[in-house]
Order: sequence, then C-alpha cells, then structure tokens
Amino acid sequence: MKPMPEKSKARLPKGKRAILILLPLALVLAGLAAWQFAHREREYQLDSFAMGSYVQLTVWGREPEEGAAETVQRIEKLEREISWRRDGDIGKMNAQAGGEPVTVEDTGELLAELLELCERSGWALDITLGPVTRLWDFDGEPHLPDEKELEKALALVDYRKLSMDSEEYWYEVPTEDGYHLDCVGTKYHVSLKEPGMAIDLGAVGKGAACDEAAELIYREGISGMAASVGGSVCLRGEKPGGGPFRVSVRDPKGDQAGSLGVFELDGGYISTSGSYEKYFEQDGKRYHHILDPSTGRPAESGLVSVTVWCPPGMVARWPGALSDGLATACFVLGKTDGLALLESYGAEGLFIDENDVITVTEGLKDRFSLTAGGYSLGEAG
Ligand code: ADP
Ligand code: MG
Repeated sequence: MKPMPEKSKARLPKGKRAILILLPLALVLAGLAAWQFAHREREYQLDSFAMGSYVQLTVWGREPEEGAAETVQRIEKLEREISWRRDGDIGKMNAQAGGEPVTVEDTGELLAELLELCERSGWALDITLGPVTRLWDFDGEPHLPDEKELEKALALVDYRKLSMDSEEYWYEVPTEDGYHLDCVGTKYHVSLKEPGMAIDLGAVGKGAACDEAAELIYREGISGMAASVGGSVCLRGEKPGGGPFRVSVRDPKGDQAGSLGVFELDGGYISTSGSYEKYFEQDGKRYHHILDPSTGRPAESGLVSVTVWCPPGMVARWPGALSDGLATACFVLGKTDGLALLESYGAEGLFIDENDVITVTEGLKDRFSLTAGGYSLGEAG
C-alpha cells in the first residue's frame, strides 16, 4: 500500500500571522479610542444676546453643543413671554389691563413667586412698576419725568391689584412601555385690575433667564454648566475635575472689566443690582434705574450695589428670578432691612455702601475674597 501523502497545511510565515491577529485588535482599540474621544467630557462656550444683555454659557459634558444651542432658544422664548416690549404673556396682560384675564402656566408660576416677594419685601419691589419705569425710560432715552405725569403713573402702581386665580388640571404623559403617567398642572388666570396698569419684570428677567438655562443640567450627557445673563449667574452640576465655580463681581468704582473680588461657590444662583449699571446726570445730580416704588424715584438707601446668592437646595421654583428680585429689593431697602429679608429666604448677600464699606453675610464670608483696593469690610447685623 502506498502511504497516503500527508495533508499539506498552508502555513503563513510567523510574522504575517502576528499581523493578522493584531490588526483586528488594533482596529477595535482605535475605534474605541475614537468613540471615547468623541464622547469625552468637553467644555463648550456659547455667547449670545438676550434680555437686553450678553448671555454667556459654559457647558461641560459629552455632548455640550446641542444643549447649549437649545438653551439659547429657551431664553429667547422666555424673553418673548415675559418682556413687556413683546406680545407674549406679559405683553397681553398689559394690553388687557382693566379687562379680561390672560390664562398662562409657567409665567403664572413665576408671577406667584414674585408677588410673594413684593409682599415680603414690604413694597421695596413692585412688579407693576411699568407705568413709572416707562416714564424714566432707562433703556431708551433716560430723562427726568414730568412731576404730574410721574404722580399719575405712580397711582397705577400696586402689585395687590394684580389678580391671579389658579386651577389645577390633570393630563397624561405616555411612558416608553405603553402606559402613561397622570400629571397635574396649574393654570393661572391673570388680570390687572385697572386700565393703564403695566407689569415690568425688568428687575427679575435676567435671573429668570438663568432659571431657564438651568434646565440644561437635566439633559443627557451634560455634567455641569455656568450661565451668565447680564448681572445674573446660574451654576449647576460639576466642572470636570471638581472644585468650586469661581464668579467674579464687578468693582462699582472700576470700569466694566474691573473686579471687586471672587466668590467660590458650589452652585446656586447669584445676581447683582447696582446704581452704577444704568444712570444719567441732569443739573449735576445723578439718577439711577433702581426705583423706590413708594416715590417712583431712584432709591436712596445709602447702597451702591447688592449681590444676592440663592444657594443650591433653596426651596424656590424660580431661584434665579428670586436672586435677581432680592438684589433689587435689598438695594431699595438698604442694609439693615435687606439683611433681614435675605435671612427670611435663607439667601446670602454682599452689600456695598456709599462709604465703600462691604458687608458680607455669614454664609458667604468664607467664600468671598476681596481683591480690589479702597474698600473695608464691615459687620453684618
Ligand atoms: P438690571 O436690570 O440692571 O440687572 P435690576 O435687576 O436691579 O437691574 O433691575 C432694574 C430694572 O427693574 C429697572 O430698569 C426697572 O425696569 C425695574 N425696577 C427698578 N426698580 C424696581 C423696583 N423697585 N421694583 C420692581 N422693578 C423695578
Ligand atoms: Mg434685580
């Protein structure tokens, strides 16, 4: 018998075999690295303009771009609803003053929170100051109003004549597994009781925009964010690598870029109101844009600037708007009453008075470093 020839195995040279095994592995690793690179934590910055001021967004996360763009749109939508210059919710309420109520949802919730602030501030804040702020026209051509006109306008200012009825209603939200969630919403029917009355949310608009921006943190792939809208800032989530957010406050005596000092905060909402922001001079006297609702004239409380911090965890539906409204209210109230108002809300603050004395509340003391010269630190309370 002829022996069967041994089956010949085609063998690759050793070097080529190694390449064949390693190539798929390398491709997998390269793919993984590319995926990780595309989905790594990144910082993204977006600048825009809304609410009459600059909007700066800094977003950290795996997919920050889309979320940031969406945030700008949310702020623009809010502006349409709450600016008295537009034809959204507030525009309609003003147009229908003395007549039919306007039915709203989110704007109603905001108004409810603000009406409480008007009340608790002892009339330092009044969101129906519209007839008076229009006369001064700080955003257009600022000028001293005619005495008689001011008196007439002032008679129309009274937040207690903003009437709000609310009703709850149920609605269904479908879930992914074919069921639905029963949810409850609130509708508010809002009316201004007298013709000529007008809501002006100028004192809280930028803070409210921060509340709108804050929703971004709930988006998939976002780990942290900082939004600044004019003098209001919102801080949410974490920065890559951790550590506090650093927020610098403007030096009232310096130019636009001059810094008074730096806050190191782990989140929350911070707003500043200052008499140096918008003002004009006439016959040697300076008139600024923060008005005392009881006189219709610039508040004279001995303060130059108030910064308010609503810390994370504070119970409020619109904590950004609240920080902004509190800053304006504290400016009108002055240091002593302003400090008491902040305490009642569990908020913190920094006050600068006309003698360059800075007062910082207990909860902010260790978080603030003064860097500008020419100021002294006073005692709170
Ligand atoms: P800014 O708009 O410069 O951030 P504020 O937050 O202090 O400053 O808001 C000032 C604006 O709010 C004014 O331009 C005016 O429209 C309105 N306003 C001024 N004083 C009051 C007040 N006491 N209550 C309610 N609104 C006010
Ligand atoms: Mg304000």
